[in-house]
Amino acid sequence: MSLQEITARIRAAENRAGRPPGSVRLIAVSKMQPDERVEAVLQEGHRLFGENRVQEAARKWPAWKESHDGVELHLLGPLQTNKARQAFGLFDAIHSLDRPKLARTLARLAQEQGRCPQLFIQVNTGEEPQKAGVLPADTDGFIALCRELDLPVVGLMCIPPVDEEPALHFALLAKIAGRNGLKELSMGMSADFETAIAQGATYVRVGSAIFGARG
Ligand SMILES: *Cc1c(COP(=O)(O)O)cnc(C)c1O
Repeated sequence: MSLQEITARIRAAENRAGRPPGSVRLIAVSKMQPDERVEAVLQEGHRLFGENRVQEAARKWPAWKESHDGVELHLLGPLQTNKARQAFGLFDAIHSLDRPKLARTLARLAQEQGRCPQLFIQVNTGEEPQKAGVLPADTDGFIALCRELDLPVVGLMCIPPVDEEPALHFALLAKIAGRNGLKELSMGMSADFETAIAQGATYVRVGSAIFGARG
């Protein structure tokens, strides 16, 4: 599917949900995609991209940021504390803040550098043992900790279990964000971004539907 088709589907989903056009931002997830596919999307003028790994992003994006104005890069995958400094230099936002140790490391870097990427707390809405994220019952407390640390937490992110109705998970994430006064909701991928928009997503993270299957 083309970038224009995805954008049109996003506009239609916003419209169906009675939300203003442009209230949902599209993160083009370029992880593990051939360079020429990413370059084609850059050529079309898209500037907001997501990557899963610090190393892969560090290899690919400095050159593309150099050659294209206005690139905005978001980290979507897990962040180890020993990669936090590198992530700080590369990413405009981090969607995977999920534990106190990482929060403290980011707070230290923010203080040292006088700036910090925008932060999303990842919530493990399905309470899956193998999945990253704060448990729903622990999320209010974790948000409070991050605020005590003066971290710029703007929203929440989730990845629903593959075999469950995603709308229930999106609704839960929206509810937790609402009661904590958080505006941004990073939810919805290629298979379910329209469902996420109906539930209030402000960022959708779409990879394979734009770029094709990953290599
Ligand atoms: C890979 C990935 C995506 C994009 O997945 P698609 O199904 O290709 O759209 C979105 N979010 C996260 C966290 C991912 O790891």
